[in-house]
Amino acid sequence: MTHHDPDCLFCKIAAGQIPSKKVYEDEQVFAFHDISPWAPVHFLLIPKQHIPSMAAVTPEHAGLLGHMLTLAPKLAAQEGCNPYPEGGFRLVINTGEEGGQEIHHLHLHVVGGPRPWKKG
Ligand code: ADP
Repeated sequence: MTHHDPDCLFCKIAAGQIPSKKVYEDEQVFAFHDISPWAPVHFLLIPKQHIPSMAAVTPEHAGLLGHMLTLAPKLAAQEGCNPYPEGGFRLVINTGEEGGQEIHHLHLHVVGGPRPWKKG
């Protein structure tokens, strides 16, 4: 972990300082159930290091982002998303105020399960 922001909610969740329903953890990332789910499956996959948003990523983060994107389908299946193509999932990264980002620690929403969903 290269950087931890002591005032950041998701840094605290990744460090286990605030409880969450953990889905997965390794050296680089942490995943946990969203507290206010849009759909039957809804968890957040975050880097452990504090990256405020997609607007702050640099080429140094390419490996980490690749890790997150390749991990997401595996975790989606483990959490109960049905297989592609009848099943599937949605990956969302809100970025900045106009992008609908409320928590300024980069997070990938992984959303799926039988419809209808609250959002979409
Ligand atoms: P939005 O709230 O518009 O989806 P974000 O993309 O920033 O904006 O998403 C933040 C997500 O974090 C929300 O889906 C919210 O329900 C979730 N969240 C907030 N606090 C917690 C928490 N303590 N544990 C789990 N999820 C949380």
